[in-house]
Amino acid sequence: MTKPRILIVEDEMALAEVVRDYLLADGMEVDMLAEGTHAVQTAFGTAYDLIILDIMLPGVDGLTICRELRQKSDVPIIMTTARVEEIDRLLGLELGADDYVCKPYSPRELVARVRAVLRRRPPAGLAPKVETNAGLQIDADSWKAELDGVDLELTRRELSLLAALVKRPGRVFSRDQLLTLAFPDSAEVFDRTIDSHIRNIRRKISSNSDWDPIRSVYGVGYAYEG
Ligand code: CA
Repeated sequence: MTKPRILIVEDEMALAEVVRDYLLADGMEVDMLAEGTHAVQTAFGTAYDLIILDIMLPGVDGLTICRELRQKSDVPIIMTTARVEEIDRLLGLELGADDYVCKPYSPRELVARVRAVLRRRPPAGLAPKVETNAGLQIDADSWKAELDGVDLELTRRELSLLAALVKRPGRVFSRDQLLTLAFPDSAEVFDRTIDSHIRNIRRKISSNSDWDPIRSVYGVGYAYEG
């Protein structure tokens, strides 16, 4: 098994080094950046399994970095902030981070959160098989999605879109993010076409059950809540 590779973006070097040492001791590989200017570039240049991202940074701040990363990537992100009252505001911003940790934190706790996020993380790319508790099965090899063993007869686009949502349960994706995740090779899809694909997926699911696992988030996009 390859070691999880973590990027720490943190300008308090003493803190970053302690966290690094804990992660190393836990069997992970660690890179560090002390400021934000090249964070997005660095994150895209290496296949990180998780990014620990401070908010207040010299250069580019963590919020901007998180937004830019989420345009193109669903790499797990844990944001750290020095202000506990900021966490509610961050949640409201729908940045798409996987967890938020307030400073001062114990490195041990942060490592536990890293482990938890890595455990939740599905394999990279469109996993060959995604299976949910609710009896939904997506098989990317055969381009088939089944609900309780019944073929939903999804188109390839519908299947890619549903797989992108199902891989990160509870996470709210914008239409733009879904376009990038589900149709990375297509240049000619408009973000409103996501709505019609979602309508079709819902119709196909509801003809087999009264279950609607896709939540519409007004003004934002969609989440899978199965
Ligand atoms: Ca800082």
